[in-house]
Amino acid sequence: MTWEDAWAEGRTRWDAGAPAPALEGLLAAGALGPATGRRAVVPGCGSGHDVLALARAGFAAVGLDVAPTAGARFAALRAEAGLEGARIVIGDAFAHAPDAPYDVIWDYTFCCALDPAERPRWAALMERLLAPEGVLATLIFPAIHAPSDYQGPPWPLWPDDQRAVLEPLGLQLARLEAVTESHPGREGKEHLALWRRS
Ligand code: SAH
Repeated sequence: MTWEDAWAEGRTRWDAGAPAPALEGLLAAGALGPATGRRAVVPGCGSGHDVLALARAGFAAVGLDVAPTAGARFAALRAEAGLEGARIVIGDAFAHAPDAPYDVIWDYTFCCALDPAERPRWAALMERLLAPEGVLATLIFPAIHAPSDYQGPPWPLWPDDQRAVLEPLGLQLARLEAVTESHPGREGKEHLALWRRS
């Protein structure tokens, strides 16, 4: 079972059909800094609602996803939204080699989609893609205590899980809060974190 299989068969229950309310809140508050002339990336973007939200706010926004069917869905949503400047790169995010690092990284349901053993690699990717003065914003989900026979994805994910892999790479928490506005069904299971280089 690959990610593309899931997309092709329409088994995409992670797709909430709209940008994450927490991202909309950050953008409305200007908490990710100025958008004009700055680059934002969304690894594991799926159909790209969050990429389009970043583009709508004025960022040069790029999504990364391994599944071609997600790319087709993104292209349709982009056309509907009239945001032709937003881009998606189809392929393994771990192999992504941009011309320049990103001012903003938004991770939602990419980290938790990966096998927990991949988290150090995930952190190394975040560090590699982030510009020196950039901000990594992670919407950490799902904060659940799973039984021992639980099978992800999504794999349980807590702020301390990300601290454990990001801090050794010099990425420090600049802000952390429990999220009050979530997609339906995810209430009380999300934390929002902003990370910067120390
Ligand atoms: N962030 C999106 C999608 C979450 S599901 C949303 O909130 O709706 C996880 C996504 O990550 C899937 O679309 C899957 O195709 C993608 N993905 C998984 N492993 C990947 C990898 N190594 N590189 C790029 N994309 C990947």
